[in-house]
Amino acid sequence: ARHSGRDKVAVHRAEISNSVVTDAETEVALRASLGKGQFECWLQSKVDTNGVVRGAEALMRWRNEAGEIIPPDQFIPIAERFKLIIPMAKELLSQVAFVVRQLSDKGLNDRIAVNVSPIEFLQDDYVETVQRIFAEQNAPLNQLTIEITENLLLADPEIVEQTMSRLAELGVVFSIDDFGTGYSNFMRIQQLPIGELKIDREFVQLAEVNDKHMGLLLAMLNMTKSLSVSSVAEGVETETQVKLLKENGADLLQGFYFARPVHFKDWLSERLS
Ligand code: C2E
Ligand code: CA
Ligand code: CA
Ligand code: CA
Repeated sequence: ARHSGRDKVAVHRAEISNSVVTDAETEVALRASLGKGQFECWLQSKVDTNGVVRGAEALMRWRNEAGEIIPPDQFIPIAERFKLIIPMAKELLSQVAFVVRQLSDKGLNDRIAVNVSPIEFLQDDYVETVQRIFAEQNAPLNQLTIEITENLLLADPEIVEQTMSRLAELGVVFSIDDFGTGYSNFMRIQQLPIGELKIDREFVQLAEVNDKHMGLLLAMLNMTKSLSVSSVAEGVETETQVKLLKENGADLLQGFYFARPVHFKDWLSERLS
């Protein structure tokens, strides 16, 4: 594949990951990477229970000065702490808007999902920023999904509600990520324009080995039905998990069993071929 060099880089990264890099050094390096196309949008397909691609989740990768691909766990928390996530997320979103435009041009109504940090979502100009970036690419906002975490629901309720409503009116769907692992206020979920719950991979993966997790997984799937929202199971790795989720009414599946995240250009060329 065109981007096969990326895999080698990832392996190299694993070898050096023990070296000591301080947060301050990472901050300096992240700052220096802004505006240079070093924050890349990788996409992982979301499929229906027949394995048909319905969209993808955007997962950020940092290509650092040394050309190594750094996974988000190693830089997102630092980027959030220093507010660098705000400009970084704009770079990611513009790649997502490009992808959405390409899809809609071909008549595909796939949704592309992005992860949003609370600090980014709570910016005064968040709605305008999302609108502007999509307008720049002439991309339809009604193919954008925004994955939020349950802890955002603990922030200023009026701001959260207003921002969500404004975006929902533009066709954006909100999804609750890592559902089941955080603080869940079901009343709140019902009041907000939430269209999707993403069941955390812990439940998906442990259901077949642990009765308690199985019970929780089934309860969460039932809950999505009661709330009339769609369900996405994440971290699907085995055929047993696929069968279980299909039999119990999950709407969409995402995981290594179907696809790994790949650079958006590779994802697009596969999707449009
Ligand atoms: P997440 O939103 O829960 O994303 C799913 C993570 O699970 C991704 O890790 C994905 O590669 C991984 N994954 C997918 N399928 C499987 C599977 O079958 N098995 C296993 N074991 N893992 C699977 P990744 O890409 O390393 O991202 C980690 C986290 O970083 C994300 O978790 C999300 O919280 C955060 N993140 C990624 N991109 C962004 C971004 O653009 N903005 C923000 N704020 N956070 C991001
Ligand atoms: Ca996510
Ligand atoms: Ca997740
Ligand atoms: Ca997660």
